[in-house]
Amino acid sequence: MVCLRNKLRFKIISQTLLGVFIFLFYCEYLVFYVVQMHCSWPKLDPIKKEPFIDNTEDPVKIMVLADTHLLGSKNGHWFDKLRREWQMHRAFQTAITLHAPEIVFFLGDLTDEGSFCSDEEFNYYVNRFYSLFSTRVPETIRIYVLVGNHDIGFHYAVNPHLTQRFVDGFNSPSVQLLTVRGNHFVLINSIALEGDGCSLCKSAERQIAEISQLLRCTRNSSLSNCDQKMKLATYSRPILMQHYPLYRESDIECDDFDAAPWSIKQERFRERWECLSRDATYELLTQIKPRLVLSGHTHHGCTRNLSVGKGVEITMPSFSWRNKNNPNYGLGVFAADNYAFLKCDMPREDSVINLYILGGTLLLIWFTYLLYQSFRV
Ligand SMILES: [Zn+2]
Repeated sequence: MVCLRNKLRFKIISQTLLGVFIFLFYCEYLVFYVVQMHCSWPKLDPIKKEPFIDNTEDPVKIMVLADTHLLGSKNGHWFDKLRREWQMHRAFQTAITLHAPEIVFFLGDLTDEGSFCSDEEFNYYVNRFYSLFSTRVPETIRIYVLVGNHDIGFHYAVNPHLTQRFVDGFNSPSVQLLTVRGNHFVLINSIALEGDGCSLCKSAERQIAEISQLLRCTRNSSLSNCDQKMKLATYSRPILMQHYPLYRESDIECDDFDAAPWSIKQERFRERWECLSRDATYELLTQIKPRLVLSGHTHHGCTRNLSVGKGVEITMPSFSWRNKNNPNYGLGVFAADNYAFLKCDMPREDSVINLYILGGTLLLIWFTYLLYQSFRV
């Protein structure tokens, strides 16, 4: 009798532990593959091909995400920090395994407290970021990082030290032109677009003007002020990337599946806070003439036509479950004469919580049943 009771107790404990392990394994690891495997690279649509551009190169495959907001020592509970970082790490590694992009772009606000933390903590941030998003990533995949207001502060608070430590830590100059197989990616520090003549702004404006001139001369070298040295190999309309969205009054017209809830959509944007100023937006669009603009900052998705020129802006939602119930990342396929872009679903926070509640209830029922059986012996 005692032997049978001991056997039953062992069965109860082992089956309960096995159940807990299976639920944890599914909710913390497998669920990312189950959800993200439904997403694949978008296909180029021949109807959208741009005229007058010759392209013989293979398309470039990029992955884009925004607003990771890694928590620091001041805000947030340690468990919140641990959980969010684990979720983002798993979602990112799963995406790298499933999609194997050539380039990954982070659209700013990598950190939550980068604008006011100590240098020691900032160095910890840099190491933490690379351990979450770079270790175990093949060396062939290039990672580019843009700066956000949480990384160095809004324009009124930013100073040369904060800017430089971000540039050094993440190898991220204020303005970058990256050309890959005929595609021109222009990466800009949107905090440097205040237009008030500050040294950060003047330097960024000069570099943007140089890129504009380079693109102009590549498109038509017979123009005045152009010589043969001032050319890229191929002209194609650039892809502009920055942290702030271009100027818009609010998110009211955004109807993406990951758009903001209605109450937030109605809130009016303030220039230079929630979006770029009208002036900076106009200057950027007229100088760079992008076919696509990718931005972040609002934590919610939005797709809209550009106010100047023919093109689209896609605002990416936050990659962190702390800011969004249904975060996601973007996959883009770019050729000089065409492109396709889509957003990939990640597990929803509420679905995972519901799964834990269901699993916990089932385990409790099973545990109670086995306990009842053991008392009957
Ligand atoms: Zn931001």
